[in-house]
Amino acid sequence: MEQPLLSTLDPGWGAGDPSTLIPEHAARRAELEALDPALAELYVRGAEVLAGAADAAALKERVVALLGRERGVVTLALAGIPALAPEQKKVRGRGLNLAKRWLEELEKAKRATLEQAAESREALDVTLPGRRPWVGHAHVLAQIRDELLDLFHGLGYSVATSPEVEHEEYNFTRLNFGPDHPARDAHDTYFVSPEVVLRTHTSPGWVRAMEERKPPLRLVFPGRVYRAEQVDASHMDQFHQMDGLFVDRDVSLADLKSTLNTFARSIYGPRVRTRIIPIYFPFVEPGAQLDVACAICDGSGRTNLGTGEQRCPVCKGSGWSELLGAGMVHPNVFRAVGYDPEEVTGFAFGMGLERIAMARYGIPEIRLFLENDLRFLNQF
Ligand SMILES: [Zn+2]
Repeated sequence: MEQPLLSTLDPGWGAGDPSTLIPEHAARRAELEALDPALAELYVRGAEVLAGAADAAALKERVVALLGRERGVVTLALAGIPALAPEQKKVRGRGLNLAKRWLEELEKAKRATLEQAAESREALDVTLPGRRPWVGHAHVLAQIRDELLDLFHGLGYSVATSPEVEHEEYNFTRLNFGPDHPARDAHDTYFVSPEVVLRTHTSPGWVRAMEERKPPLRLVFPGRVYRAEQVDASHMDQFHQMDGLFVDRDVSLADLKSTLNTFARSIYGPRVRTRIIPIYFPFVEPGAQLDVACAICDGSGRTNLGTGEQRCPVCKGSGWSELLGAGMVHPNVFRAVGYDPEEVTGFAFGMGLERIAMARYGIPEIRLFLENDLRFLNQF
């Protein structure tokens, strides 16, 4: 075999063991060595560089150098046969044809091995430990809302909802807000147009429900409300409320009181102390505020946090914290929806879900509810 032919193979190409691909490699090598030692050298070197190809591109490059139709080592050797002596022609011709066929077999085997390796890299390894899927949970405010809905469902209330973008008529006028009430001012309320607002409370839901239905009614109205507030640690310009409405014949303040106490006990435990004090809201008469004994100082108004007794910072010394507003539905509200205030009476109440969550969990900052910080949300 002429050295220039073999020298076209890159001496830097890594070699592999062909017998891992073709078990007959050693026997074939011996057969060629017996026939034509120079040819055996070409075959062995060719087989080793094919076996050593690291990927499909390297294999293709080496196949072209060995078996390429124009410049391949084997092709050039075949082209040199006619110049040989008649005896040599026969031997070299037979040996080259064998070497060519065996190298082609090796290429095929190597290609299959490389393809298989690529597939198994992409394939799913079922022996790997599983990845636990990330599971979310309800927002703390949604948990409070659902808990309250459960409670009121048990007291016979159904859920009703109303639009967040509301006519001023429903948000104010039919709820007995006077034309000059300060809540109607753009300082307190987001106006979409002169007649349309982002609702400032869930109470417009009562008006809509009473217009659609005949008494008796027993409904709760959960939802988001909007106020044009300066945002700070205890004020947001959007928050969540739940109103309740009970309308029937002979509904009394005693019914309201027992409902509110049932509610407060379910939220704060059966031993919680409550008080109801009068307060003004346009849509109820009389209006009331339900307070619960301060959870921090247990109603004493004084705390001792290790630095001596001092005024309780949460209830500011009063011993009470405000839980919700309530009252008997104002006769003007009944008239606005076509109910006869001589025929029916009713009570209503409304509470802020953020306030309940903050009191229960000691959350100092209302903005946390909307910040979507998982470090906060995952605590509930
Ligand atoms: Zn207190």
